Amino acid sequence: MLDIAIIGAGLSGLSLADRLFEDKRNITVFEARNRCGGRILSRSITSDSTDSSFMADLGPAWLWPGHQPRIAALVKRLGLKLFRQWNTGHSLYQANAGTAPTMFIDGQTHETSWRIRGGCHQLIAGLVQRIPDSILHTQHRLLHLADRDSYIELVFAAGGSHVTYQSKQVVLAMPPRLLADNIIFEAASAPELMQAMRDTPTWMAGHAKAMLVYPDAFWRRRGFSGNAFMPYPGAVLADVYDACSEQSEPAALSGFFGLPAFTREHCRDNLEALTVQQMTRLFGAEAANPLHVIIQDWSMEAFTATGQDRTPPAEHPRYGHPWLQLDHWRDKLYFCGTETAQTSGGYLEGALEAGDRVFTALTL
Ligand SMILES: Cc1cc2nc3c(=O)[nH]c(=O)nc-3n(C[C@H](O)[C@H](O)[C@H](O)COP(=O)(O)OP(=O)(O)OC[C@H]3O[C@@H](n4cnc5c(N)ncnc54)[C@H](O)[C@@H]3O)c2cc1C
Repeated sequence: MLDIAIIGAGLSGLSLADRLFEDKRNITVFEARNRCGGRILSRSITSDSTDSSFMADLGPAWLWPGHQPRIAALVKRLGLKLFRQWNTGHSLYQANAGTAPTMFIDGQTHETSWRIRGGCHQLIAGLVQRIPDSILHTQHRLLHLADRDSYIELVFAAGGSHVTYQSKQVVLAMPPRLLADNIIFEAASAPELMQAMRDTPTWMAGHAKAMLVYPDAFWRRRGFSGNAFMPYPGAVLADVYDACSEQSEPAALSGFFGLPAFTREHCRDNLEALTVQQMTRLFGAEAANPLHVIIQDWSMEAFTATGQDRTPPAEHPRYGHPWLQLDHWRDKLYFCGTETAQTSGGYLEGALEAGDRVFTALTL
């Protein structure tokens, strides 16, 4: 019998595991993917021409430590180094497809944004190092939870078969909407709880990011910040930013797609070419020959997005539904993804806020 089973090795699950392990609690972490980090994904990119490499953030890239105390404290505890998001020079704004981009100085968008040296995945690598391998089970996909009165029974798909565990308490550190869609809850769960899970959009799950790697940051040389905003319908990328490492070589521009998920899927074979074309229209001929183009479409990730998430909310949702704050099944079941956080829900800070709430509830 396990004491506490944490489902999901994203930032919320791992930060909670770290704190509970430090508190000498008997915990086990189960993760469906073959890697930890969930929406945090940094990929190593090597440039043969400059013989250097950097970590490209294909999920989150920015922290705002000035008003995010938990993430600031975690960065400090793990000994990570931050650097400012590059924001120097002219930004571009293109109002519609037929007009040329106009230049402006953007003193707002990234004024307070910071990035982690070595990529956002350093947060995950640092946390994983602090907990023993033996309590971390990757490639264990939760299928079924049953309330057995004094414990919860958990059924996972793992290694081509089903495995069953029993645990006194279970923490669901994954997006609520994924839970509603993919997990069977065998017990009288309040209809309000199931509705709250379904009604909670998974932050950024419908989005996709492009990363274009270049031998040098030619846009900086020409006085551009790398920021570009294209808010019109039909824009391939809706906004672009400088994604260079601190050393600036190899250099990279990254952007969030403006095309919705179904359009991206429809023109999947041309997406790379369309992306390069748009970057060239914005930054000129030097943008036409990237060393690499990487596209990460989160709407295609079964362990992040549901069908409903393919149409993202127009605005940042209000997270932290009261039903997701409560314990359920008589103090045995807890919810702990960033979407359950009341103040910073959706952000990395929210994942830590949710972990804090569950830590307090479990250790009271
Ligand atoms: C493109 C993009 C850009 C973003 N940019 C930023 C940013 O700049 N700044 C910021 O603060 N935030 C940003 N975010 C949000 C940030 O990534 C999230 O807030 C944070 O990573 C959420 O962590 P989490 O642990 O709550 O959830 P997740 O990272 O989603 O972790 C949930 C875990 O549960 C696992 N799982 C799913 N189903 C199962 C199952 N059935 N069984 C077992 N395990 C399962 C998943 O594989 C995953 O590892 C961005 C997100 C994306 C996608």
